[in-house]
Amino acid sequence: MATYKTVYKCRACGTTSYKRLMERQASGAWQPTGPYQCCGCRNVFDTLRAWWGEPKGQTDFRPSQMPV
Ligand SMILES: [Zn+2]
Repeated sequence: MATYKTVYKCRACGTTSYKRLMERQASGAWQPTGPYQCCGCRNVFDTLRAWWGEPKGQTDFRPSQMPV
């Protein structure tokens, strides 16, 4: 099973890797189904953002202030 390393880490345990949960399709192939599982605490998250947690105060940036 594939594991992914990121610059982010789990807000619960600090682990920097996660994996996609797989589900067997009718065709017999295994496909990622969406949820992510932390390799450390084994918690399952619907989105990566939920896994690493949203940084506070950085969610309402204005695109016009982004460096070009
Ligand atoms: Zn974790």
